[in-house]
Amino acid sequence: MNFNVSPAAAAFASTLRQWASARPSGAPRPSGFDAAAWRALADLGLLSAVLPALAGGQAAGAADLVSAMEALGQGGADRGLLFALGAHLFGCAVPLTRHGRAEQIAAWAGSLASGAVVGALAVTEPGGGSSFAGLRTTAVKDKDGYRLHGTKTLVCNAPQAGLFVILASESAERGPFGLTAFLVPSDTPGLTVSPILPTAGLPGAPMGEVRMDGCAVPDSALLGRPGSGLKVFMTAMGWERGCLLAGALGAAQRELALCATALSQRGVAQHQAVSHRLARVKMRLDTARLTLWHAAWSLDNGREDPSLYAAAKISISEALVACATDMVTVLAGQGWRGEPFDAAGALADTMGGLFASGTTEALLDLIGRTLQNSGRRA
Ligand SMILES: Cc1cc2nc3c(=O)[nH]c(=O)nc-3n(C[C@H](O)[C@H](O)[C@H](O)COP(=O)(O)OP(=O)(O)OC[C@H]3O[C@@H](n4cnc5c(N)ncnc54)[C@H](O)[C@@H]3O)c2cc1C
Repeated sequence: MNFNVSPAAAAFASTLRQWASARPSGAPRPSGFDAAAWRALADLGLLSAVLPALAGGQAAGAADLVSAMEALGQGGADRGLLFALGAHLFGCAVPLTRHGRAEQIAAWAGSLASGAVVGALAVTEPGGGSSFAGLRTTAVKDKDGYRLHGTKTLVCNAPQAGLFVILASESAERGPFGLTAFLVPSDTPGLTVSPILPTAGLPGAPMGEVRMDGCAVPDSALLGRPGSGLKVFMTAMGWERGCLLAGALGAAQRELALCATALSQRGVAQHQAVSHRLARVKMRLDTARLTLWHAAWSLDNGREDPSLYAAAKISISEALVACATDMVTVLAGQGWRGEPFDAAGALADTMGGLFASGTTEALLDLIGRTLQNSGRRA
């Protein structure tokens, strides 16, 4: 394994780190989508990074993106913004580039790269996101294309999205193999997006509900083939589970440094109860970092192993919550007041990572099934 990124990717990460650290520290958390930051990052080239060179992108790999997102977090970018970027890049742009036809990529690349169109992935439904058994959204074939009916919820970026990747069932009997993915512009008649859903954390990554009431889409909206929705979904999940928490990991590294400085200055860092907690935060972050970079390396080397990305997501998300809990604990009243950073907000934000792209329990099921299947084959 080689975790080095190219000199160009390292320079890009450094530019992003500087951009993020130049923003005023101590400013209140954004209360919604940060359109100005989005445009600035588009101008810096982050939104075009995953797009193919032929479509004006840089064809960046997972390691390049992880390095970019981690740098943004290290520089102090808001975790909500980082989450929104992940939903756009890994939930929408990556599936488009991997499964879209050349004309679909050409049609959307410019506006996704410039930030004019925000992307989103709409899979979860009000009946529960952990299993496709509860997926009720249907795609009914008619002579001009398909009619979509159903409701998606907890869709990150939905309120500002211009393009959705939507998963619908064409054939309930075929279960997950009857799923089809569609590229649906947000202004398609029959599609409506709810106002922003209230959430416990990540206010900078607004979520919404997407309703389709006989929403008519042409055959050209198919992403991949009819019945290949599971494949499209697994591509998005590989990248989300493997890479999405890179930004939050960078943010936690920055917060550990702030925390250690604040506690040393107050003269409490010498208490073993405090220093051991900080040492454990450091160990967890280092281990999570190795897991993150291993997942990115695996994506770049074409490893199609959903259980590897599921395990990475569980390890990183749980490590981040444990670190945020330890940091809020040792900062005590100072952290509660939001100094030297919003430790309680960080805890709420990182908890979102436990559920996004699949809960720990659902992913443990996936890993367990893979082990059982390989045991049966052995
Ligand atoms: C920050 C964030 C961002 C998100 N972004 C998106 C997005 O962009 N697009 C999108 O479509 N969705 C998104 N989601 C939704 C996310 O994918 C779901 O929350 C997740 O899949 C779990 O679904 P659920 O919340 O409906 O929980 P449920 O499926 O209702 O599960 C409830 C509880 O039951 C457990 N459970 C359920 N089934 C099983 C089982 N078979 N075995 C053991 N335990 C089980 C779960 O682990 C959980 O503890 C996001 C969620 C969060 C928190």
